[in-house]
Amino acid sequence: MSSISNPSPLSTSSLEEWRQEFLNSYSSVADLIKNRLVSSQEAVQLNSLGERFKVRITPYYANLMEPRVDCPIRLQAIPHLGEEDPVLPQSFQDISQRIYQRSSPWHGDAIGDVKNLAVPRLTHRYENRAILHLSSICAVYCRFCFRKSHLNDDEKTLYEGSLDEAIEYIGSHTEIRELILTGGDPLSSTDSVIRRLFERVSSIEHIRMLRIHSRMAVTLPSRFTPALLDLFRKDWNFSLTLVSHFNHPQEITYEARTALKNLRKTGITLLNQSVLLKGVNSDFECLKTLFQTLYENGVIPFYLHHPDWTPGTFHFRISIDEGRKLYAQLKGHLSGPALPHYILDIPQGYGKIALSDPSLAKKIQSLVPDSLHSNSKIGGAIYELTPPTIRKPQNQPILYLDLYPC
Ligand code: SF4
Repeated sequence: MSSISNPSPLSTSSLEEWRQEFLNSYSSVADLIKNRLVSSQEAVQLNSLGERFKVRITPYYANLMEPRVDCPIRLQAIPHLGEEDPVLPQSFQDISQRIYQRSSPWHGDAIGDVKNLAVPRLTHRYENRAILHLSSICAVYCRFCFRKSHLNDDEKTLYEGSLDEAIEYIGSHTEIRELILTGGDPLSSTDSVIRRLFERVSSIEHIRMLRIHSRMAVTLPSRFTPALLDLFRKDWNFSLTLVSHFNHPQEITYEARTALKNLRKTGITLLNQSVLLKGVNSDFECLKTLFQTLYENGVIPFYLHHPDWTPGTFHFRISIDEGRKLYAQLKGHLSGPALPHYILDIPQGYGKIALSDPSLAKKIQSLVPDSLHSNSKIGGAIYELTPPTIRKPQNQPILYLDLYPC
């Protein structure tokens, strides 16, 4: 049985369009400055910020940007001073200490990928599904990414070593029915890496579903070459689902729609998950158009995520209250399949809950009286969360600190 090594699109000499474009990406702050993707004022700020988090933007995605600082495409791709996490007022530090045993709620392992590693490169959080961390490489390094720490300082935690042990683990755990390929972006791997992986997974009888989480339809639609589509079309022993990550209607371009249309023809199931991001899509009309357009293009908008507690993403947060108001508005304007679930991944790997359900997320107003943060540029609230299947500790309420820039 052949072993699967780390994907390395940068080492290939192929002239396929997507790889060429990948190689031509803007991949440093200096690149952004040299190619005038940022103004001279932004350049000064970015130089002071340094390169705490990786930068990569494909020419395709850069072409979608408008030359204004509040362009929703730019905000998702260009580094921002907001990536310096704020110093929280003492009152919030105290509450965070109480809830998370640390002075701020953000954490590199925001949803417990590392905490639930079964073997290197495989997270086994839920009984019947497992996550394979296939690649740490992305066509665009999204500024809001919840795996931002893993893709930067803590890269070795999820992506080091061969996948062999992970495949062996999956093969010996018959309770796993679904394998989720994630990253980074799993489709940054070459076709041959993906083919070999499909072959190995297809030989494991109990794996019935393979789900690929990829942002390539958004950031590099040329990735969906006829060869890759043929690979998806093959008669594997699992059903195949692609979960894309469109966050804004401007990302659903002609090229993206063509890629989605070609994907549909392979028979693959198409879902989308979006993140609710302040300044990018925290607006009723924007979300309505996004979900409606996805649905019209054969993609079910499955999840709308409330942002995870990830370092370097504070500036993207909106309050749960605001998110709930937006969601309530959407309800009356979208048909059932076009309306995603508004969910929160509970920090530390406790799973997902629907924020739209008041019985699952109860606001505890009294713990954060307005007087505590009335002079702060940071707002806050505490929620008591009741996941439908609480994993551990049993029967103990889970508190969640909701903070956001005002
Ligand atoms: S493509 Fe996905 S994994 Fe990569 S930076 Fe964007 S959100 Fe994160």
